[in-house]
Amino acid sequence: MEFKALVELCESLEKTTKRNVMIGVVADFLRGLSEEEIEPAISMMLGRAFPKYDPRTLDVSWATLSEIIRRLSGVDWATFNTAFRSTGDVGAATQIVFERRTPHKQSLLFEKPLTILEVRRILEHIAELKGQGSREKKERLVETLLSRATPLEAKYLVKIIIGEMRTGFQEGLMEAAVSRAFSIPLKDVQMASMLTGDIGEVAYLCKKHGKEGILNLGFKVFRPVKPMLAQMATGLGEVFEEHGGRTALEYKLDGARIQIHMLNGDVRIFSRRLTDVTKSLPDIVSLVRGEIKSKGVILEGEVIAIGDDGKPMPFQHLMRRFKRIHEIDRVTKEIPVELYLFDVLYVDGKSMIKTPYIERRNRLKEIAGNIPLTRQIITGDLNEAEAFLKSAIDEGHEGLMAKRLDSPYTPGVRGKHWFKIKPVLSHLDLVIVAAEYGYGRRHNWLSDYYLAARDGDSFTIIGKTFKGLTDDEIAEMTERLRSIAIREEGNKVIVLPKIVVEVAYNEIQKSPRYESGMTLRFARIVRIRDDKTLEEADTIETVRKIYESQFERKAKSSYESET
Ligand code: AMP
Repeated sequence: MEFKALVELCESLEKTTKRNVMIGVVADFLRGLSEEEIEPAISMMLGRAFPKYDPRTLDVSWATLSEIIRRLSGVDWATFNTAFRSTGDVGAATQIVFERRTPHKQSLLFEKPLTILEVRRILEHIAELKGQGSREKKERLVETLLSRATPLEAKYLVKIIIGEMRTGFQEGLMEAAVSRAFSIPLKDVQMASMLTGDIGEVAYLCKKHGKEGILNLGFKVFRPVKPMLAQMATGLGEVFEEHGGRTALEYKLDGARIQIHMLNGDVRIFSRRLTDVTKSLPDIVSLVRGEIKSKGVILEGEVIAIGDDGKPMPFQHLMRRFKRIHEIDRVTKEIPVELYLFDVLYVDGKSMIKTPYIERRNRLKEIAGNIPLTRQIITGDLNEAEAFLKSAIDEGHEGLMAKRLDSPYTPGVRGKHWFKIKPVLSHLDLVIVAAEYGYGRRHNWLSDYYLAARDGDSFTIIGKTFKGLTDDEIAEMTERLRSIAIREEGNKVIVLPKIVVEVAYNEIQKSPRYESGMTLRFARIVRIRDDKTLEEADTIETVRKIYESQFERKAKSSYESET
């Protein structure tokens, strides 16, 4: 199948918001694909070069890509900026400048149309290039790919390379489309998608074997599973109410979540975003290999960095361990980490996800060897719970997790089975969409950040802050922002939405300054959340809800103080 058919489909998705229509056209399209095409096509439609569990990455920076777009289109960069301003999307801007290419350049281009499989092969080739001289070679391949693309194809190639599709067609809808395409109940498709970790592979199995292909799937060791997520609780009172008066409370450690897979002594570790981080954590690998009393397991735990005083170090230190590719031995010594296990999803050929929490925890204790579990109590007593929360905070941790005793493990689901309890409620995960150079000492640094909430497929600004980061972090952030800069407007640099930050604030106020009509009061960045994806950033609906609940709270407290 030609790549053109795929991009035309994406284009039609972009133009409709009707879920049912979208699902219908994608289902028809999927039916027309061959077995080999189906996974690559699905990955690309979801804005990925490869399946989700696949460790390969393209490693093509926006700086490189934008240079190629500039070279190929031959237009001056101001034209790109205008195109970007009118569309708000780098893919669409690329299409516009490609349409303005000189006719001479265009005529050279379309000898042979690109096919879906050919695009995949070129992307594989780009990902495989490593080491010295690979940057130039990658650049050449991207250039060849884009030079063969029509303007519309270029729009989507750029989106795939930067990993942002924005057609509004997310994984959940893709599951529905696969279900419809192959007449298989949605719940079976969803279950298979959760187990294999990739809807593209599920579609392939459905195409090849029909329903039988996905019915007997089990967990696969070394295939990461979406983590179960927690909802923020308003307080311990709510937790007891929702969990039927009794719950398990665990320390919420301020570290990084890892999923550990082990089979016959081979260990692989995945981050919360399901990237393979095994190489960054050789100490954890040998710890697990030495302690875990089982041949095949999938475990979850939190890794924290420990300072000389025995207290947890700030999260940024730990992230240095995770980002490390060189000199791992030195950094392993410099930033010692500790692992605390908190769940088990699979043991020796058996899935544990339907087993109640309390039994999973007991099983975990049996197999953990000398690896500690997160500190835990089971209680129905509010005073005891409050004392436990206080001790967690006093020991330098973030707060508590409350886990319903009879709850299954629900991969990828954020529900009321798990609550997080933090003493400060006013935190949001937001995305940096622009930054300004500072003043005085900071005049060379991008130190004032525009913070945006997710708004459908785009981002809406709700505040700005220059507070929270250290000088070193600002310098590093400046580098990162420059590498994803799209254009400059005086002192301000507009960037690709890539970086998620956790922001603390005092209040959400009404404000005419931003289109959202809201702004954060006293916002400050608490940490850079490289462990979170853009999809995990908070939405504008959440912000609006909090804004509205502030009035309810204020009304309630003034009501309570009056009565
Ligand atoms: P958040 O990232 O704020 O949504 O909070 C959930 C995160 O808390 C999880 O993804 C884990 O990384 C972390 N966490 C820390 N301690 C625990 C625990 N005892 N159980 C589960 N998650 C934990």
